[in-house]
Amino acid sequence: MKNHQPIPTPQDQAAANRALKRQLPGRLLTDKDSRFRASLDNLRLSVMPNAVIRVQNPDDVGTVLRLATRYRIPLTSRGAGSSATGSAVPIRGGWVLDLTALNQIKIDRVARMATVGAGVVTADLQAQVEAQGLFYPPDPSSKKYATIGGNIACNAGGMRCVKYGVTRDYVLGLKGFFADGNPFTLGLPLKKYASGLNLRDLLIGSEGTLGVITSADLKLIPKPEKRWTGMFAFKSEAAALKAVVALFQAGLNPSILEFLDRQSVACAEQYTGKPVFAGQPRSAILLIELDGRPAEVRQQRKGLHTIMEGRAVAQREARTEAQAEKLWQVRRTCSQSMFSLADTKLNEDVVVPIEKQAELIRYTLVLKKEIGLATPTFGHAGDGNLHVHIMYNRASQADAEKAKVGIHKLMKKVVELGGVITGEHGIGLAKAPFMSLQHSPAEIAAMCAVKKALDPLGILNPGKIFEVFEVWDHELIDLRLPWDHR
Ligand SMILES: Cc1cc2nc3c(=O)[nH]c(=O)nc-3n(C[C@H](O)[C@H](O)[C@H](O)COP(=O)(O)OP(=O)(O)OC[C@H]3O[C@@H](n4cnc5c(N)ncnc54)[C@H](O)[C@@H]3O)c2cc1C
Repeated sequence: MKNHQPIPTPQDQAAANRALKRQLPGRLLTDKDSRFRASLDNLRLSVMPNAVIRVQNPDDVGTVLRLATRYRIPLTSRGAGSSATGSAVPIRGGWVLDLTALNQIKIDRVARMATVGAGVVTADLQAQVEAQGLFYPPDPSSKKYATIGGNIACNAGGMRCVKYGVTRDYVLGLKGFFADGNPFTLGLPLKKYASGLNLRDLLIGSEGTLGVITSADLKLIPKPEKRWTGMFAFKSEAAALKAVVALFQAGLNPSILEFLDRQSVACAEQYTGKPVFAGQPRSAILLIELDGRPAEVRQQRKGLHTIMEGRAVAQREARTEAQAEKLWQVRRTCSQSMFSLADTKLNEDVVVPIEKQAELIRYTLVLKKEIGLATPTFGHAGDGNLHVHIMYNRASQADAEKAKVGIHKLMKKVVELGGVITGEHGIGLAKAPFMSLQHSPAEIAAMCAVKKALDPLGILNPGKIFEVFEVWDHELIDLRLPWDHR
């Protein structure tokens, strides 16, 4: 894809900025602060765009794209900038399209659908639909910040995917614009749709490389009446992950099934100064939520206890929302407490078949020994989607080198186990070097052909997914982002 990377001349960029100011007065921001905020995402690699455009309505997007096409300006769409992979970094400069002002929500209770602007924050949508007795399940941990547009562009997951599926499973229709500024309506707010090639699903997860989404029609479901939360401790990771397999074999259907390895739990315990389970320090843990009608939850809970008997060494149940929140605190603490191990975290959202998770955990321990860096792992065990972390100190060249070796070995192992290098964060910049581990040359060529067909000038989010990029060769910025709690 290298021959399709636009690099506008300074004259073209200046002319494009002037034209944009004329056609959309008040939208173009060129001050340093606005450009810096739009220069990075959670990967913390900063590349300054030439300007940020704050669109006010969907039609603005068409106007911007027509100008970007005319002047060959690289254009990176942006929601909250919470991407973990650098997918929102304007690596070729140009314009960043800030879509956060497209934040309208329209709920249809009868059809059980919502039409939402791309800039709507996921948690805001969830709150509004839940107030009407409905439910939008996709729940990335970044939901208080991340936007629906960003969720769709990355096909975001979260904890509830084990029962309810990922963002893709809730998208009925997409409105937006192709690279040349022509509008699209891909799918409609209808329960069935079988017309033409399914370009809607092609755009989902395409990380802003195929088009700009301005709004989406989303499927809603009835809000579960009851929730139950329990936490179980195990002597080893293998015991916990065997319980996961047993639970599915028994036909149980948890709404959340989270796993924490002993390295992660030890970090949380050190951080809070007390064991998660008194008398059972450094256990591996499963956090489980059941939901549905009260009778169904009761029956599932009974089945769960039968399975856990003789497997778990300790357990705790939440009887109130407040108690459930306390249990979830363990999971939240894990993430931030890892920084006691080192100042930098590689968070690899890999997926392996459910029954291979124990093998993957064994491998993280082998890796820990081999590279001499901690590898605390937690994640969505119900989906086989474990977040393997490699902790290293950024200032140490030797540590960074070990982390680099570690991540390459990890990705290779994941693919060998029949897994995938990313389950929810996408490729962006950080995972681009591993595309050829996952996909054959023919598959990558087919993807590039699709990209070329929809974006012949290569102006949409250039430099992502298909170009090998070594994050290691670039300095990452140490700054506090809105979702940082440390
Ligand atoms: C603390 C934390 C926890 C996280 N937890 C999870 C998790 O549990 N599950 C999960 O899946 N992810 C998670 N993420 C990753 C991230 O939040 C998600 O990928 C999220 O979907 C990104 O949304 P955003 O609005 O921030 O998008 P951005 O970061 O702004 O953009 C992400 C990508 O989408 C493109 N894009 C954005 N809007 C549009 C649009 N309207 N049209 C076309 N392309 C667009 C961008 O160009 C970019 O390629 C987490 C991140 C953080 C920081």
